[in-house]
Amino acid sequence: AKSTGRGQVKFFNNTMRKKLKTHADIENDLQHGIEHNEFELYFQPIFTILDNHVIGFEALVRWHHPKKGFVSPNDFIPIAEKTGQIINLDLHLLDLAAQHISKWHQQGHRFLKVTVNVSSRHFASLDFVAQVHAIYNKYQLPLGSLCLEITESGLIENLELATQIIEGLSPLKVKLCLDDFGTGYSALGYLHQLPIHILKIDKSFIDHVQDSTNPLVEAILSLAKSLKLEVVAEGIETTGQLETLQTTHCEYGQGYLMSKPVPAKEAILLINQPL
Ligand code: C2E
Ligand code: CA
Ligand code: CA
Ligand code: CA
Repeated sequence: AKSTGRGQVKFFNNTMRKKLKTHADIENDLQHGIEHNEFELYFQPIFTILDNHVIGFEALVRWHHPKKGFVSPNDFIPIAEKTGQIINLDLHLLDLAAQHISKWHQQGHRFLKVTVNVSSRHFASLDFVAQVHAIYNKYQLPLGSLCLEITESGLIENLELATQIIEGLSPLKVKLCLDDFGTGYSALGYLHQLPIHILKIDKSFIDHVQDSTNPLVEAILSLAKSLKLEVVAEGIETTGQLETLQTTHCEYGQGYLMSKPVPAKEAILLINQPL
């Protein structure tokens, strides 16, 4: 038993050491990666639940690391948030997304919307509003073509600042989507004070929707309706879920059933015809 105990300690230490090294590696590699264009945006369609019509995409980052190969966002976004590098990374990805939006709109997809994830640390930074305006100017983006996704905690921690930022973005008709709604804070009491436009129902709730509806999802839908918010259901994987969401009048959806996130060239093929 004693030797097992020691073995476990040793194993634990090695694991910890490895984890620390990975952290430091990623921190060093992130900046290099931004400078060398190792990040690519994949796009997952957002569609109308009623008739499966693609209205836009969520941009999701993929890192093609020269040595490690593919690194999942869950393995580097949290680290980038800790080190503060997320601001640079987000800005770089916002620029990339704008390039795609601009190209797609020039190709005739005039009503296509792209939603970009923004870390609350970046959203609440001093220059954020000016940065988004600069990107709009740089790529001559059509008003209303960009939507930003923020998680609840990021907005609620500084309600006043969040309101100012959203007002600063309103001339560009940038819509704000509350991501992962229902997880974490679930501050229902704040919802009516948040100047947001869209609620994204977290996948964990949609998982419980199968052939019968989930009372929580119904509650969120009626709440959203009374607050005049659009709703996107995230993580739809089965036709059963889709049909149930149709009967509960959820407007928009996203999930593997329709498509996984795919490279830009494939994403645009998911649109039937230019509008
Ligand atoms: P998120 O914003 O909640 O994104 C949804 C995640 O669920 C994505 O994982 C997406 O690929 C996955 N997903 C979508 N539909 C389904 C489905 O039907 N089933 C299942 N099982 N999964 C589905 P991904 O791309 O690995 O991203 C993970 C998280 O990393 C994101 O969660 C977001 O918090 C963060 N992230 C991704 N891209 C960016 C980015 O460009 N900037 C920032 N700041 N964060 C990002
Ligand atoms: Ca998101
Ligand atoms: Ca989400
Ligand atoms: Ca999430």
